[in-house]
Amino acid sequence: MQNITRKEIDILIKLQKAETEKVRIDLFLKDAEKEKTDLEIGLKKFETDLNKHKQDFKKIKENCDETEKAIKILEERVIKNKNDIMLVKTNKEYQAVQREIDNNKTRKEQLETLIIEYLEEKELKEKNLKKEKLNYKQLKQKIKDEQNEIDKKNKKEIKLLAKYNKQKKKIGIELEPELYNKFNEISEHSNGIAIVEVNNEMCKGCFMNIPPQLYIEVQRCNKLILCPQCNRILYYVEKDVKVE
Ligand SMILES: [Zn+2]
Repeated sequence: MQNITRKEIDILIKLQKAETEKVRIDLFLKDAEKEKTDLEIGLKKFETDLNKHKQDFKKIKENCDETEKAIKILEERVIKNKNDIMLVKTNKEYQAVQREIDNNKTRKEQLETLIIEYLEEKELKEKNLKKEKLNYKQLKQKIKDEQNEIDKKNKKEIKLLAKYNKQKKKIGIELEPELYNKFNEISEHSNGIAIVEVNNEMCKGCFMNIPPQLYIEVQRCNKLILCPQCNRILYYVEKDVKVE
């Protein structure tokens, strides 16, 4: 077991304070980044929906245009048929042209019924699209504002993080590199807590009891003792008040 002094333990406790802040900020920044990404995903989803609305509107508009064009062609045909009928020579020819006129008229009427439906649908979809476009614009602005707000908060935290990193380094210099590295290694595997108090034979890192013999050794404070359960460095603080 590695020897350690009370002074070194005190430095490690100081180091832990900076480490705790550092880990808190790391987590905060990670959460903030996730929040920003989630907002982005929400906006993208809305964008996909908006594109669908745009496509729907485009399709119904095309249907309207095509139907209008077809009606016009039929109208022109009827006019031509009516001219043709003046020029026919036989009854058979007359009947053939008349049949064509009837067919074209029927088809035209069908299309005119259809286009009423199309135009209603187009109007509805245009209204929806306008609404969705406005919603999208508002959402985009809202998300931008929220992301800016997050960035503003992050900026503060990033500054603090630099401060605690510097503090850690400064405190770390006072320790043997081996001990400093050990601290960092434990912290990395133990949710950012490398050194914990032990009291009444209980580790305050994992809240498990440690063997009485080990507890005595922690109290002696001359060896580096790790918790057998959570592997964190243990230390003991003498309590001034003794309850009888
Ligand atoms: Zn423990």
